[in-house]
Amino acid sequence: MKWEDNVRKVVPYVAGEQPNKERMIKLNTNECPYPPAPGVAKLAEQLNCDALRLYPDANTTPLVEALASYYGVKKEQIFVGVGSDDVLSLAFLTFFNSEKSILFPDVTYSFYDVWADLYRIPYRTCALDKDWHIRPEDYRQPNGGIIFPNPNAPTGVLESLDMVEEILKANPDVVVIVDEAYIDFGGVSALPLLEKYENLLVVQTFSKSRAMAGLRIGFGIGNEKLIGYLNDVKFSFNSYTMNLPSQVLGVEAVKDDAYFKEITGKIVATRERVKGELKKLGFSFPDSQANFIFASHETISASQLFYALREADIYVRYWDKPRISESLRITVGTDEEMDVLLAFLRDYVDRF
Ligand SMILES: *Cc1c(COP(=O)(O)O)cnc(C)c1O
Repeated sequence: MKWEDNVRKVVPYVAGEQPNKERMIKLNTNECPYPPAPGVAKLAEQLNCDALRLYPDANTTPLVEALASYYGVKKEQIFVGVGSDDVLSLAFLTFFNSEKSILFPDVTYSFYDVWADLYRIPYRTCALDKDWHIRPEDYRQPNGGIIFPNPNAPTGVLESLDMVEEILKANPDVVVIVDEAYIDFGGVSALPLLEKYENLLVVQTFSKSRAMAGLRIGFGIGNEKLIGYLNDVKFSFNSYTMNLPSQVLGVEAVKDDAYFKEITGKIVATRERVKGELKKLGFSFPDSQANFIFASHETISASQLFYALREADIYVRYWDKPRISESLRITVGTDEEMDVLLAFLRDYVDRF
């Protein structure tokens, strides 16, 4: 027996690369191309450094209160984490504690199976249909919990609120997590269903629509009792997860709703324009309601395009995995960035 036999061995999640070049176009990790709300920069300059001596508020009270008032729920219904990855990871640990398999789509956020393996949670995947939609009937089998993103990643496909409710209705005995990382780009949130279903957890993030991926802020909204369980696990793990600057700047971002609507509106408009242009170039894709487009070309392979783009310092995401290896996930950047991408593609497609 060696000490290494006692190590918990896992295959970690692989994040998109984070190149840092002066003149790159970075469309590979779904960040927002616009800066955070103007008040955030102002406040960042005025940050009171003396306050950093002290531990931050373990309950992130001001941020919880800001979110509770913004979403019209009680503050006991909000759980704040260090990015929604933190919220989701703790939710797996807290709620998926059954011997039965949890269920999620076969094509989805590639962190779910990593957490399931890490925490030794059995899981089964349910195949999306040919149009990349969830088949609700798959979620009628016995299970230990359910999670899916809406809109889904990396497809961008949005499911209707009726479909989400159908799954909730069929699964009153387990926790159902709806990962709404991309809901602000045109989707309808499951939040109103919280009144009817106490086993629902809705998870959202500041990383995509609020332009703050670098601060690491995510949150979950659910029934008070459910959020209480999540807090018990969090406080058994690490009390002071979110640092003080993130708490303070997060509150400031929530205050500026007009700016939030402005940048998400711009991204949606750019997305719709780019869809039209990509179609003209021979690309096809499911109709994304997120801040990215999951596109494949009629003749050129995704891997070939990926490397050609990368050579030109245009970064998109490509996975050499079953079912998705013929598509590229292209984040919607600014109009200027998308024009550079489209010009490159026009030229490239012409040559093949
Ligand atoms: C980006 C993403 C997250 C995590 O984002 P954080 O930066 O940790 O908030 C969670 N779920 C999905 C589906 C995502 O795409």
